[in-house]
Order: sequence, then C-alpha cells, then structure tokens
Amino acid sequence: MDRMTRITRPASARKVQFVDLQRQHDEVRVDIDEAIAGVINSNGYVLGKEVGAFEEEFAEFCGTKHCIGVGSGLDALTLTLRALDIGPGDEVILPANTFVATALAVTQVGATPVLVDHDPQTYNLDPRRLTAAITRLTRAVIPVHLYGQPVDLDPIQVIAEEHGLAVIEDACQAHGALYKGERCGGLGDAGAFSFYPGKNLGACGDGGAVVTSDDRIAERLRRLRNYGSIVKYHHEECGVNSRLDAIQAAILRVKLRHLDKWNEARQRAADRYRAGLADLPIVLPHVAEDRTHVHHLFVIRSKHRDRLLNYLVDRGIYAGIHYPVPIHHQPAYAGGNCMVSAPLNCTESSCGELLSLPMHPHLTGEDIDAVIAAVGEFHDQLSSEHIEAAVTSTAASRG
Ligand SMILES: *Cc1c(COP(=O)(O)O)cnc(C)c1O
Repeated sequence: MDRMTRITRPASARKVQFVDLQRQHDEVRVDIDEAIAGVINSNGYVLGKEVGAFEEEFAEFCGTKHCIGVGSGLDALTLTLRALDIGPGDEVILPANTFVATALAVTQVGATPVLVDHDPQTYNLDPRRLTAAITRLTRAVIPVHLYGQPVDLDPIQVIAEEHGLAVIEDACQAHGALYKGERCGGLGDAGAFSFYPGKNLGACGDGGAVVTSDDRIAERLRRLRNYGSIVKYHHEECGVNSRLDAIQAAILRVKLRHLDKWNEARQRAADRYRAGLADLPIVLPHVAEDRTHVHHLFVIRSKHRDRLLNYLVDRGIYAGIHYPVPIHHQPAYAGGNCMVSAPLNCTESSCGELLSLPMHPHLTGEDIDAVIAAVGEFHDQLSSEHIEAAVTSTAASRG
C-alpha cells in the first residue's frame, strides 16, 4: 500500500519548510545589512548604543519599564531566578510540557523544578493544578506561553499572591501575544524572551532579554549579566558574562518593526489551516477567547501521529514534534532532580499525539494548501485501509 502511493506520488510535490528564515531574511536584507554595518563602523560591539536602544524599544513594546538584554532565553530565565535570590532548597513550579530550558534554568540555580500538568485544551500550565503543587519551599512559578498562546495568567497571579510566589513568565514563544489586551512578558514580576533565530522575533544567532517594571529586579539583572558589576572593575557579586550582542540588537531593532505584521501573517496561515483541516479526525489548536495566539507553532493532535509525521516528511513537508519527551522523562532528569506533585495525565497522553505543522510568517497559500492536501491524503489512505481490513476480516469469517 505504502509503496503504491510512493510510486503514484506526483513529481511536482511541493516542499514546505518548517521554518523559512531565508524568506524572512529576503524581506529585510537591506535594512539588516545596514544595521550590521552601522555597528561595525561604530566599533560599539558590547552593550553600548544599539543594545540600549533595543532595550528601550522592546520595553516599550511589552509595556514595561525595563528591558535587560542577555545572551539567550535560558540565561534570561536563569538570571531572573538569581535576581530573585532563588537557589538551593527552593522549589519552582513549571509545566511538564515545555522546552527543556524552562527546567534547566531552575536546575542551574540549584533549585528544584516541580512539574504540573497542562490544560487539556490549550496545552498550557493548568491553573487548577497549581495549588496542589505548592509547598513551604515554593518560591516562584514559571508559566510558559506555549506555542504562542498566553497562559491563563489571572488565576495564577491570584494563587501566587496568596502564597507569596514570584511569577516569571517564559515568553520565549510568545513575542507580541496579548492576554486581555496586554503583552505577554509584561504581566508577571518579570518576563523572559529568547531571540533564537526561529522564534517569532529572532536574531541571526543567540540572544535573549528580560522585561520587568520592578526596578530592583532590573538593576540586579544589569549587574548579574555583566560580571556582577555596574561600575567597571567593582564587583558586587559573582555574576556572569551574558549580554545581548550589539550586532544582534541592531538586527532585532529592524525585525521588531515587522513583528506585529509577521504575527498577523502567522494568524492568517493558522486560519487557512483551520478551514482546510476542519473535517479531519484531528484536534486543531484551541484559542481561548480573551487572548491572541501568535502561533509560534501550529500544533495539532492525532491518534496516528508518528505515521502522519513520516507520511508528511516523506513528501517534503517538514512537520515536527513539540515536545516528544516531557521533562520528567528526560534522562537529564532521571536522577530525582525534579519533582512531580500529581500524576501528569494530560502530558502523558498528549506527548504521543502532538504534531506541529509548518508555521512561519512567509508561508504562501500554496504552501498551506499543499500541507492540507497531504494531511487529507493521509486520512484517505487510513480510511481505505480500514475498509480493506473490514473486507478481509469478513472474507476470512466466510471462508
Ligand atoms: C526557546 C525557548 C527557551 C530558551 O531560549 P534559548 O534562547 O534557546 O536559550 C526557553 N523556553 C522556551 C519555552 C523556549 O521555546
């Protein structure tokens, strides 16, 4: 059966990239070349004018008083935990279904990640499971705006306030997303961003930032990222070297001007997927009413996930899985260095079914239709297999 479809597959089948940085770069190439040349001509490679200007612009974009550029999203999370004096003996709550960096930040400061299950519809940390995970050692919660959809933050803030916990948003997949009209990252005590190239706002290399309106957190972060020093050669504490690179900052300033437009293009792509996939036996992403989804990823759910993934990749349609292995099943966390407060039933069942279809702002209508057609053909093949199996079993019972 599978060989047959391979032979009859049209030679003109369209390849669709999961993320297409080439098309993005083509759109802004001239401005980026100019921005890079500007940094080189100024010789201001570390911190300095471009980093300061980006920090100001991104803080304004997020609606916060401060933005502190750092080396990566992981460092944004780690240094924020350090700025809050969270360390050995402390517990920090986060969702089990996230990129490993959310947990690594907690581990890196010597605290213990405590994993909570996700909401069955949004795949984000389920606020109803939060209270049960809190102990007298809990210091903070890191809700993740996973796939680009804001987590339901209000109930989390209420619980956090009751228990004196800090709220650190992991906004690494949600640049520009709105929760009740306000930007993700600016809602909690601090918000961590990554500018890894494939993110909604991506640099041409690694980069990250923390946004906050808390003066104390901001000042501490400025010190921690720069060897624990504000005044040169005077070191208040043992900091690190994790600064947003000036060339990356100059590039990010160019791309920030396109971010809302690119997010809208992702939303239009998502709408086209929804319309084209509506009749198939798969679960489409659910968008809660009081927020915008910036579709860092377009994640569907299928009972035949692995076969569907292979079918698509065989046809040059590059889908992916986010994430195949939850944190507590990672070998890195096999040694009892993370905790699970209650059974993670939703996480355990979804991780075998989640599938991310190609998603980026430069997908064309033809790209999306090719993905829709391939997902449809897969399901046609599945139902013809079912009919064949039924016919065979009827024949067998007659024979
Ligand atoms: C990308 C990402 C990070 C880490 O960012 P880096 O810049 O790659 O270190 C953290 N959390 C989430 C949810 C991410 O998607």
